Amino acid sequence: MKMNQFVIIGLGRFGSSLGRELVELGYEVLGIDKDEEAVEEMSDVLTHAVVADSTDEDVLRSLGVRNFDCAVVAIGNDIQANIMTSILIKDLGVKQVVVKALGELHGRVLEKIGVDRIIYPERDMGVRVAHQLVSPNLLDYIELSKEYTIAELAVPKEMSGKTLKELNPRARYGCSIVAINKLRGGIIIAPTAADVLEEKDIMVVIGTNEQIENFEAAVS
Ligand code: ADP
Repeated sequence: MKMNQFVIIGLGRFGSSLGRELVELGYEVLGIDKDEEAVEEMSDVLTHAVVADSTDEDVLRSLGVRNFDCAVVAIGNDIQANIMTSILIKDLGVKQVVVKALGELHGRVLEKIGVDRIIYPERDMGVRVAHQLVSPNLLDYIELSKEYTIAELAVPKEMSGKTLKELNPRARYGCSIVAINKLRGGIIIAPTAADVLEEKDIMVVIGTNEQIENFEAAVS
């Protein structure tokens, strides 16, 4: 399902950053916050920004929230307002309801309400930063399962000038380089043995967590 119109409820640090990025990406965004200052700050950035209390069902109806493709509840500290808003929006029948949870228990409540997606920004960012701190070349990663990961690794100086054949990560470590994003010259998908790595290129590696860790440790 292609999303076109988003409504973000709660324009704190998370909600406003999300809204800004969606607008940059070319989407229409309605921002709602009960705090006038928060709305004022975002009024030039978002498509529309209104001062309203999202725990009031009539207000949500009059703003036409049900017509949006996706609603994001980005109210943080006020768990009661977060949960009440989530129920109301779910009941209005918005297709995709995404809610920011403060912790596991809060997340379990949101699951029971039946929201479509629960996000844990602080928890997930903590995990992400921990991985990046212990692996200096790790730029980003996606966990495919508990065991398998796709990682973006910066090519270190020691690897510069080497071909994939010389490096041979599949035979040595069990993981595969599935793409190389060259600093100069674009992205190579499914690189061959003759492709050469250069410092600051980014390699996309797929394998088990252990294989990728061993490969990373060997090259950093
Ligand atoms: P963050 O950690 O992302 O900054 P905050 O909890 O600090 O999150 O901010 C959430 C925003 O949600 C605040 O700007 C606050 O005014 C807004 N908010 C809280 N309750 C409601 C409500 N009932 N209706 C609309 N906005 C609300």
